[in-house]
Amino acid sequence: MSIKEILRILFAVLAGSLLYIVLILIPIIGPLITGLIAGWIAKSKPRIGFFIGVISGIIGFLFLIFIAFPTWNLNLNFFVWWIFLIWNLIAFLFTGVGAILGSMMSTTADFFSKFDRSERRKKEDIYVYGPETPIFVVCPNCGMSNPEDKGYCSSCGTPLRRG
Ligand SMILES: [Zn+2]
Repeated sequence: MSIKEILRILFAVLAGSLLYIVLILIPIIGPLITGLIAGWIAKSKPRIGFFIGVISGIIGFLFLIFIAFPTWNLNLNFFVWWIFLIWNLIAFLFTGVGAILGSMMSTTADFFSKFDRSERRKKEDIYVYGPETPIFVVCPNCGMSNPEDKGYCSSCGTPLRRG
């Protein structure tokens, strides 16, 4: 993994966790969009994308609990805390799923551009090397190079074996 990839993942988690704080208010769709964007930014394998989504959700959740809520001076009762906790646990799953989709979408876009490039290169190869190189058969008797479609040596008349 290169430094560029690691930085991209860190940026994806940062963006994902900030989005999470806001979009957590929208059930299912909010976390799904959060994960989708984080996964798209990270541009990694779907399996890694899943963790990027989940970690984004957890960091966003921790921010709410340890930084935002104490400053808001909320007086939440035990029951509301449980709902909040379960709400977020479900949300982590959806940020993960969203990030899988996001990373798949970004790598699919990459895949198509790669495919395009290899097609172009194939055409360039044909242009550079020509359609086919002529094959010669060397005569076992005199060493004369004969075109492969000749049955007999053009110099000494020895029958030429093929293949
Ligand atoms: Zn010959």
